[in-house]
Amino acid sequence: MAVLNATNSETRTPPLERLIGFDTIRRPFESWYAFVARLIRANLLTDVEIRRQVPPDWVRWAFAPDSVLPGDLATLGPYFRQLSKPEIKIRPGAWQPFPELSSSPPECLRICPRCIGDGYHSYAWQGDLIARCPVHHEPLTHHCPHCATQLLWQSRSPGLSAFQCPAGCLLLDGIHSGLYVPDELAITQALQEHWQWTQSLSAAITFVSGPMHIAYPPYLASAPLRMPPLPSKGLLPALMHALQSSGVTMPGFKPYHEQSRGHWTIEAKSWTWKESEPSTEDQLETYRRAFRRGAYRTHVPIATRAPIDAWLAASESAHGRWHGGEVEEGEHCSTLVLPSYLVTNNELTGLRRLLARGRDPELACAHYLQALVDLLEHARQRRIALDKLDHPSPHITVAESVDAIVRTAEGYWRLSGFTRGEDDSRASWLDYREPAEIAGGMIHIMRRSGPP
Ligand SMILES: [Zn+2]
Ligand SMILES: [Zn+2]
Repeated sequence: MAVLNATNSETRTPPLERLIGFDTIRRPFESWYAFVARLIRANLLTDVEIRRQVPPDWVRWAFAPDSVLPGDLATLGPYFRQLSKPEIKIRPGAWQPFPELSSSPPECLRICPRCIGDGYHSYAWQGDLIARCPVHHEPLTHHCPHCATQLLWQSRSPGLSAFQCPAGCLLLDGIHSGLYVPDELAITQALQEHWQWTQSLSAAITFVSGPMHIAYPPYLASAPLRMPPLPSKGLLPALMHALQSSGVTMPGFKPYHEQSRGHWTIEAKSWTWKESEPSTEDQLETYRRAFRRGAYRTHVPIATRAPIDAWLAASESAHGRWHGGEVEEGEHCSTLVLPSYLVTNNELTGLRRLLARGRDPELACAHYLQALVDLLEHARQRRIALDKLDHPSPHITVAESVDAIVRTAEGYWRLSGFTRGEDDSRASWLDYREPAEIAGGMIHIMRRSGPP
């Protein structure tokens, strides 16, 4: 018979499941952050004790949830087997069918102030699909309700990050322990409904190329530096609305969903493409490598020459050889060589991402070529407008644009749209310099003299 040594049992670290609040692991839609933060607060764990008692992975996943990869879920330990859908408790991304369309910064905790006051948080709040809490009707926010500091996940230490804003305000209400959530049942039911809604949304729309999101000045000038920039609010509702108006069957909004379309104007057009040149993944890689950004010349790959030649001819017949661009036959693929001031770094990054993320090489190439021609045409109009800045022009007030190919039960659609900046903001192009860079060159979009 085993006899317990009294001295050892006192100094031994108590098993994880003996921590107060451990039984709350089973709250199905609550976030891993709330669970671990509650273990830390309810047991008054110091940073030293956290390191000793809570598995390091748990702490990392709680305070850096975007680092949780699908692979981490494959090796889940015994505790996780108690969860019915581990991914929705552990990965914020699982709640977002299209994370690239979200305007909420993923590096911040997004909360309902009332829920977090009771110690409750769900990864369903991350992203911007839900505008207000379905139970408390409070607008969700990524700022501290007390001091307005951004709620960054990682602040000074796990102990101080649990239910605290980076400036130190306690997010729990009064002396709340977070162990008992008064509205738990109502929140769980609402989140169950929202989970089904996101599932039916991703079943209705599949992004097959893109989205390519480009932020232009003056938007970029007023937004904090971020790579790649997030779209402004309302992009997903605007896309859904555009598809609905074209007769695509989509799940209807719930009252707590974000329905504002922000400043977005989106058009959905039925889309087909010619499978003329078979493209392979290797070829796509060749195109990706052909992007070259220098201080004076920029190289952009061309998958098929015909549309580019047509655009060059049309723009030359309108304005002469104003652009200084030409097609160069390379060893592996043709490139369009342009003066660097014509296109922004942001535009090039967007184009390059189209080729980098296309799941179907042929389809991605076809979409890339169309997006390239549209972008060049926009760059041409912008160049002309910039050179006579006295006239208001939509081409230098466009603040953001988006382009994507989606597949629905009704077929393929090309979604393109933009937001408009204020006319006054045109002046911010004057001393605009891009902080982003592709090949180490800081590109200045302005030029003293342009086409007559
Ligand atoms: Zn709430
Ligand atoms: Zn605060």
